[in-house]
Amino acid sequence: PRSHTDIILAGALGDLSKKYLWQGLFQLYSKFSDSKNTIAFYGVSRDVYEVGAEKLNKILQERVTCKMKDDTKCERRRHEFIQKVRYFQLKADEHFRKFGTFLNSKSDKLNQSVVQGRIFYLALPPSTYTSMAEKLHNCCLLRSGKHWTRIALEKPFGSDTNSAKEMAEGIGTFFKEEEIYRVDHYLGKSVVKQILPFRLKNKDALEPILNSDHVDRVELVMKENFGVKGRFEYYNQYGVIRDVMQNHLTELLALVAMNLPSTLSTREIESQRMGILNHVQPLTSRHTLIGQYSKYISEAQEEGVNASSSAMTPTFGAAVMYVDNARWRNVPFLVISGKQLDEKSSYIRIVFKDKEFCVSSCTHLNGSHFHGPKQIIFHIGHGSLPSPGILVSKNLFKPKLPPGLSTIVVTSHDSSVYGLSMDDFNVAVPIENNDAYVTVIEDLYLGHQQSFVSTGRLMTLWEIWTPVLSGKHSPKMYMENADFSLNFQLNNGGIEFTDKYIAFVESPSEARDQM
Ligand code: NAP
Repeated sequence: PRSHTDIILAGALGDLSKKYLWQGLFQLYSKFSDSKNTIAFYGVSRDVYEVGAEKLNKILQERVTCKMKDDTKCERRRHEFIQKVRYFQLKADEHFRKFGTFLNSKSDKLNQSVVQGRIFYLALPPSTYTSMAEKLHNCCLLRSGKHWTRIALEKPFGSDTNSAKEMAEGIGTFFKEEEIYRVDHYLGKSVVKQILPFRLKNKDALEPILNSDHVDRVELVMKENFGVKGRFEYYNQYGVIRDVMQNHLTELLALVAMNLPSTLSTREIESQRMGILNHVQPLTSRHTLIGQYSKYISEAQEEGVNASSSAMTPTFGAAVMYVDNARWRNVPFLVISGKQLDEKSSYIRIVFKDKEFCVSSCTHLNGSHFHGPKQIIFHIGHGSLPSPGILVSKNLFKPKLPPGLSTIVVTSHDSSVYGLSMDDFNVAVPIENNDAYVTVIEDLYLGHQQSFVSTGRLMTLWEIWTPVLSGKHSPKMYMENADFSLNFQLNNGGIEFTDKYIAFVESPSEARDQM
């Protein structure tokens, strides 16, 4: 069937739209819009038409780009796209009414057989979501023919269980659960998208070993080597736990630890994800460490944020999480994130206990200089590797590749990663390495709800983290460029800073042995 979709971007002139969304929408247009499937794009903000339209045009001219120079086909599409985007002012009730009338007069002209979709993307401060949802619901819904509606929302989705619940209820008054698409752009990262397909494709090798009999620990890490400059007003209210640990990193935990869904349908995936998250033990302060880089307060003051409210904001967090089910009992999931650390890097690393076993088609690295642990690494980005990819120790098994991944040959010149020579790994890399927002927008258009955060999951994620957020622990100071290099002290299942450093030792089991 033919289709027509209206995409309305609210906050069209804001930072997120400028940095990612217009480019993502352009790529969507290039890939999906043709004579059978049409898409109309609307940028809206509170600015009057003359001012807003000009600002929007400037943003589109400057920010929408073709990847390759002299790609004439892309340049032509780019020009078409920029001409197509229309600006509307939405401030007073009357503006909303007029906009709705305009949209629906266009929609009425379409043939009844055309399936119509309407997407509202709110790139706005979350405090405005409920009232915006109400106004859009009242003015601008499709009302006839075959149609669907989606509303996309950006994080933060609350700052603890209660505030998230209140926000979810606000949106839920105006939009149904299946219409709500909460963006976690981490789920759109190319390697993260491949976790489940990779697990399914390699289930014969992986399922028997992804459990507490074989896994020593799982590390879920997102390190940054820069601070909060320019974002203090936002960051100071949230801190590292709410900013990335409660959402991105715990979502990653679910993807590696959940039971395999039998198919990749939204319902199956959601049910297995909830299955695992419901067994993650809520965190307490014994399982969590927080730190703050030493210049944080003075930098915050330079941006006008006061010192007393900054003192408690963590810019570094480490937690040891446990999943209380038969499969994962006693396996530590170490979740770590921070700003102003030694490097920018993001990965999931599954480290195996047994140095001897080989699952299938292994290369025995006899005589190799290396006898370290076998591991699987989902390298999400940055760090010492040139591209995102999935690394499997050669002496563990030879991975089969799902569509979208290809093998690259690495040589020892490609340096060492995660303490090992690259020679020790089979490496698969995503064939397309799109910006996460390109994928988010594509999934939103296609209705792939499994790439977004349901209300149920959101609430479960908050329930895991809320207990530790209500504690009143001051963060430890650390120097900029701190090398946390995963030096952990695990103490009876808890976690501690050592006296001298805020640092952790390579392997928790080794640390345990040393104590
Ligand atoms: P922003 O630039 O601060 O604001 C976006 C737009 O919201 C502004 O251009 C403004 O549009 C409108 N706005 C501001 N206050 C408003 C109010 N009280 N009522 C109605 N409209 C208001 O925000 P952003 O950085 O683009 O972020 C948008 C959303 O994405 C937020 O939820 C943010 O948390 C989330 N997010 C942002 C980033 C990022 O890198 N920027 C990353 C992750 C998530 P007009 O004045 O033109 O109407």
